[in-house]
Amino acid sequence: MTSSLLQIKYLNEMGLGPVWLPVSVNATAPEAVVHTGLLHMQTQDVADVSLAVATSADADAGVDAEISLALQQTTRDAMATATDVLTTPVLQMDWAELQQTVAGCRACGLCAGRQQTVFGVGDQRAPWLFVGEGPGYNENIQGQPFVGAAGQLLDNMLKALGVQRGQRAYIANVVKCRPTDDAGKDRPPSAEEIAACLPYLRRQIALIQPQVIVALGKTAAVALLGLDMNTPVAQLRAKQHAFEGVPLIATYHPAYLLRKPLDKSKAWQDLCMAMQVMQQS
Ligand code: SF4
Repeated sequence: MTSSLLQIKYLNEMGLGPVWLPVSVNATAPEAVVHTGLLHMQTQDVADVSLAVATSADADAGVDAEISLALQQTTRDAMATATDVLTTPVLQMDWAELQQTVAGCRACGLCAGRQQTVFGVGDQRAPWLFVGEGPGYNENIQGQPFVGAAGQLLDNMLKALGVQRGQRAYIANVVKCRPTDDAGKDRPPSAEEIAACLPYLRRQIALIQPQVIVALGKTAAVALLGLDMNTPVAQLRAKQHAFEGVPLIATYHPAYLLRKPLDKSKAWQDLCMAMQVMQQS
């Protein structure tokens, strides 16, 4: 079967039909484990102090505003110091050190509920990097990103681009541990959790040196572009962005496309744009 026929087959599997839409482009190291644990401890310590002072402030409302401002500054200082301690060694790690550090990481509260970390998978010098939100139920069990129905759709999207897991493509998430809500269901990671985990993804990107990053869904796009968490992906797709000089295209998350199959055609347009960027790089 020729590559063109294969592409048509994969597009049909995505529910897109044989279309090609040209789109113009507008445009565990021990030290690290100790330090990453420190981030969570410092944040928790500040929270404990905050609770104690809040009780005290009930008895003396006159100093409440002053204490509140001081605590906000203390929290910011603690987070800034701990993040500096975390990111400096991570930015110098090789693949083995990075994977070992992530496996033992306790830098945010998501470590408490995980079965295992989900580091990422693929070609470590891939031209294509696909970034999702975080592990879900199945990924937490299997230790791989994008498994299940959403993973199958992503695999078909990769095939439509002429790549696959482990061959010219790397797949990672913004956070490496599964976020869950009080009912134990998947939820998006918080801004604090993303900030704690982003140095790992940043180091993965530096090691891979991809030619194009495809951000799958809102969380990946806003995290990598440093945007407000509420920015809808519809505002970000169909445009070329950049992460530290690497072209970035945002599109819909495969799990969303399973719920809203009519938007698959828009996702395909985004992938076509990413392919054009790849060919121009
Ligand atoms: S989500 Fe990231 S920062 Fe938080 S514990 Fe897991 S690996 Fe560490």
